[in-house]
Amino acid sequence: MRSVTILGASGSIGASAANFLRLHRDRFELKNIAVNGDWEAALRIALEFGCRAVAVSDAAAAAELRRQAPAGAFDVIDGPDAAAKIAADKVDVVLAAVAGSAGLPSVLSALRAGNRVALANKESMVCGGRALLDLAAANGVEILPVDSEHSAIFQAMLAGKREEVASIVLTASGGPFRTTPIEQMRAATPEQALAHPNWSMGAKITIDSATLANKGLELIEAAYLFDKDERDVEVVINPTSILHSAVQFRDGSMIAQLGLPDMRPPIALALSWPDRLETGVKSLSLAELGKLEFQAVDLERFPCLGLARACLRAPGGPLLFNAANEIAVAAFLERRIGFMEIPEFIAECLEAGAGRFACALDDILETNQAALAFSRSRLLARAA
Ligand code: MG
Repeated sequence: MRSVTILGASGSIGASAANFLRLHRDRFELKNIAVNGDWEAALRIALEFGCRAVAVSDAAAAAELRRQAPAGAFDVIDGPDAAAKIAADKVDVVLAAVAGSAGLPSVLSALRAGNRVALANKESMVCGGRALLDLAAANGVEILPVDSEHSAIFQAMLAGKREEVASIVLTASGGPFRTTPIEQMRAATPEQALAHPNWSMGAKITIDSATLANKGLELIEAAYLFDKDERDVEVVINPTSILHSAVQFRDGSMIAQLGLPDMRPPIALALSWPDRLETGVKSLSLAELGKLEFQAVDLERFPCLGLARACLRAPGGPLLFNAANEIAVAAFLERRIGFMEIPEFIAECLEAGAGRFACALDDILETNQAALAFSRSRLLARAA
């Protein structure tokens, strides 16, 4: 029996993970879950899987959960650090699926407690960088990627030795604006940006997929996770999201991982590694598929990708890139800035804040808060 904690259990990744665990009750015990405020989802999941503890960050939601839960069914942990507390409980694997840098404290907490982390929260890797991998190594645990691209790279890497890897090919769907002219992108509404053609995901990551900031974050994540220079990570568009990423080896062989665009296989692999279990996702038929199409990324329409590459060269750059992006996405969803202002704003922040947010891992939570505050104040200055 493998014990599991899911952080972000009420989100899209959490739901897919629960869907997978339901198929393998003989192999996994869902011990703990954490949600932000969705106490109803938490109650349903906790009762279904017989969880021992539920972390709820929102105080009112936690109080409601305590009222609604059958007496003695499970413990309720509340408060802003509830997820970090529950992440420290010893289990075989913690699935970190909180969205944004809000997931950082719980990832640190899981690693410090010596828990293996199945990482869906790419922002932690972006903010923590190599220091996060060092923390995992110091605690004798692994970080297994859940992101479909990084799971693909992880799998392709197994075909050779690290020193035989020439480069990484990170694929992107291109999002809802893959072929949209830049004038129309400037006028794009949140509703249009939220309509992703292939993947069904949370709001933050869906907007990030429309600007390709998500691919920028993934490029940074890949550079750290697989110890590659950003110049050795190529980004190419595969509009159908069938080829999830590839590794180019020095002998001219490219090893790719393919499958239908469904998050269950990469989530499942990170939870069951080194075993592969059934996920309920149907096999890919190449004959039905017919063809695989690829395109280069238009950096003029998707400047976030170039900004992500550039920010890797400045100390603390990725953390600032992420903070500025989080503030910009929230502002776009609130209709305070336009779609193409997201990259403009990130570029401004990276320039004005260059070198200011370099820090050691111990100071990362404060530094991230400072970078978010810095970005918020730049946004206000922009509006004024
Ligand atoms: Mg991805």
